[in-house]
Amino acid sequence: MCGIIKNCRYLTSDNFNLTTLILISYMFEFKIFKKAKNSRARIGVLKTEHGIVETPCLAPVATQATVKALTNEETENVGSQILIVNTLYLHLSPGEKIVAKAGGLHEFMNWKNPLMTDSGGFQVFSWGFGKDFGIGKILKAKNKKSLTFFLEGKKVRDKKINPAPFGGILDSAERCGINNSQLQNVSASIERGQQPRLLKITDEGVFFTSFLDGKKLFLGPRESIKIQEKLGADIIFAFDECPPPLADYKYMKNSILKTHNWAKVCLETKKTKQALFGIVQGGRYKDLRQESAKFIGSLPFDGFGIGGEFGADKNKMSEMLEQVVKELPEQKPRHLLGIGYLEDIPKIIKAGIDIFDCNVPTHYARRGIAFVHAQGRNSGHNFISFEKLNLKQAKFLKDKSSLDKKCFCFVCQNFKKNYISHLFRAKEITGLRLLTFHNLYFFNKYIEEVKRKIMG
Ligand SMILES: [Zn+2]
Repeated sequence: MCGIIKNCRYLTSDNFNLTTLILISYMFEFKIFKKAKNSRARIGVLKTEHGIVETPCLAPVATQATVKALTNEETENVGSQILIVNTLYLHLSPGEKIVAKAGGLHEFMNWKNPLMTDSGGFQVFSWGFGKDFGIGKILKAKNKKSLTFFLEGKKVRDKKINPAPFGGILDSAERCGINNSQLQNVSASIERGQQPRLLKITDEGVFFTSFLDGKKLFLGPRESIKIQEKLGADIIFAFDECPPPLADYKYMKNSILKTHNWAKVCLETKKTKQALFGIVQGGRYKDLRQESAKFIGSLPFDGFGIGGEFGADKNKMSEMLEQVVKELPEQKPRHLLGIGYLEDIPKIIKAGIDIFDCNVPTHYARRGIAFVHAQGRNSGHNFISFEKLNLKQAKFLKDKSSLDKKCFCFVCQNFKKNYISHLFRAKEITGLRLLTFHNLYFFNKYIEEVKRKIMG
């Protein structure tokens, strides 16, 4: 009970009757307390056996049952309420049986607050076409640092490729000035029935090879649910095909049918009291997104995830999200999978998303990038104006100012840019830890500010 009260930051000041929430049973529940007047944004609370989550919020990525570089206490101190753990990584090592014998994920990782596990779908499919782009006819990764597009006979090279296997390609296309309609032409080579080199996708699931020991494995809806039941997170996800972003229309149409069938199998398979979220797919095709949202939204899931890519144009993302959200039941929680750049957050919240997971704050931190309040200029945008600093740059060695003067986190209160820059240049682990702490704190505060401004 203490954990519940401690976590309840926003609602205690918002005439919320906390006693009611505590006295009702520990079954999974989602309550909406306030809706925005000018958008679909809403303030709510997710109640789980391990405490409550105030929404909208970011679920930091704890891929291998830890937020990289932080202890659980630090993750709580930055204001994070719920984490998302990677099912496939834990299945490969140490294996769900070991986690179950240790008393389940909460006990195993000593995290007392709510947890989610993904279905393993995104991970396993990222080892398919995502990897193939390295040798494909259309996209050719010369090395990990650059990506070459072959469009209408011309080569266009992007040297700033993001390591994310899917988002990276779309971001890259955008940087190279390849627009959404051109990208649809490029997509023609991934057709219905085409198989990636390293996977075999069937109507029942996916055959793949473990990158750890070369073992041949299979993952389908039944397997995913059984693994997630053993791991024991509060919220689990249905197994879906995460299609390649460059898939053509027919591929995508066939793919959502597979995802829809698998959704029904997941509902039939689940035997535990864990909350199960269905996943909407459909890529960048508006009608398929709507079709998927209608179908998945009609099934008795406890909440809904929205997966996959929306196309290279970020404005299209908000439009598409609104279309999807419109088709989903109003009273159930909505989770946006794997999207959460700082500049996307206001759009995501306005579209009516309650939780989103993203590795941006932690991933960037480990590469020396800090998100901080912008200095002395007003971007003209309604929310906190921010900038990115690369602490690896030598110029910061002479900078005696705190990392972010407007941030009240432990790192900004105690450390200066010169020292953090030195730690990164000397490859000291402490540098990664300090920036991870600050970035997550900054993201969580940013979300609070967006919520405050949107809700009025
Ligand atoms: Zn800070």
